[in-house]
Amino acid sequence: MTADTKKCVIRNIGLILTGKIEAPLMDGDCVIAIDGKISAIGSEKDLDTDTASCVIDANGVTLAPGLIDSHVHPVVGDYTPRQQQLHWIDSSLNGGVTTMISAGEVHMPGRPKDIVGLKAMAIAAQRWYENFRPSGVKVHAGAPVIEHGMEEEDFKDLADAGVKLLGEVGLGSVKDGATAGKMVGYARKYGIQSTIHTGGPSIPGSGLIDKDVVLEAGTDVVGHINGGHTALPDDQIICLCESCRGSLEIVHNGNERAALLTLNTARELGKLDQLILGTDGPAGSGAQPLGILRMIALLASLGNVRPEIAFCFATGNTARQRKLDAGIIAPGYCADFVLLDQAQHSPGKTMLESVGQGNLPGVGMTVIDGIVRSERSRNTPPAQRLPRIEKQHSA
Ligand SMILES: [Zn+2]
Repeated sequence: MTADTKKCVIRNIGLILTGKIEAPLMDGDCVIAIDGKISAIGSEKDLDTDTASCVIDANGVTLAPGLIDSHVHPVVGDYTPRQQQLHWIDSSLNGGVTTMISAGEVHMPGRPKDIVGLKAMAIAAQRWYENFRPSGVKVHAGAPVIEHGMEEEDFKDLADAGVKLLGEVGLGSVKDGATAGKMVGYARKYGIQSTIHTGGPSIPGSGLIDKDVVLEAGTDVVGHINGGHTALPDDQIICLCESCRGSLEIVHNGNERAALLTLNTARELGKLDQLILGTDGPAGSGAQPLGILRMIALLASLGNVRPEIAFCFATGNTARQRKLDAGIIAPGYCADFVLLDQAQHSPGKTMLESVGQGNLPGVGMTVIDGIVRSERSRNTPPAQRLPRIEKQHSA
């Protein structure tokens, strides 16, 4: 420990959600982070809490990993041209989201579709979100949409320049399975993750991607398997759940009935670890600051999964599927947390019980890399209890 070490102690925690689907709850009332990474979890009396530069009294509320939105369409900073909206990322932080993953910066006005142009924009977007985190939120962006004419060398160039994601396959000119599969293979060869637009067209100009195209493309993520908005027929969704070994992504901006079908099918197949959540915002239906919490409450109340498991869909599952060092409460992972409590006047005896009855929890605080980023949410229903900052890192 040096004088510059940032040590954050969160004490008096009521319940810890781990993000790990195989063990979603753990004992303990205290989490310690050093220089932005979790160093210890357990009982405060057993842990070394001395020399903390930041101390948070959780006041008995629940600590969960910061939520991960697996499917967003950012453009630049905290502005989206899609609905002419400012600060939608900050609003999502107030909904407990600490990490976002771009499925393509497709709302950029005049988005280049020629190959050199789309590569340049992807590289620039990767840089501008790496260099600037809106309100502290980690935005993994720079996700090019593939177009006809791209060669293996283009994917190598992108990877060499730091691009790690593809935007939704199908939003560009490549809508056939054979071409998509070839390009997804190039992307994978150079360590670039891929996702696909599953279902009917989202807005005028986009197209249908059915199960045959999804299977032939073979992306790492079946993007919005419940449609964005228009879902595939039930038999095709069931077939994708049966056939795909990658992520099955359910989004807020999709068909809720298809979301429940996906969940029920995945449960029957023993594939709940493949489920991940996104909003697909900003989109035609707007930005959705509480979208991830709403998906958790929807699935926990109507989908016959325990609420603590539903939280894993938006945290540890996504982290594992996407190979992120966040989303799980364990030593070495990023100290990205959301502190939650039961909403005032909500039914149920505990936060989890009230979520299981379809109610949103109240967000009391978010922490990213061991630093408090927001306090009582301006967007969720008010929580019964709120954490308090006892001591704050000096600047
Ligand atoms: Zn889409």
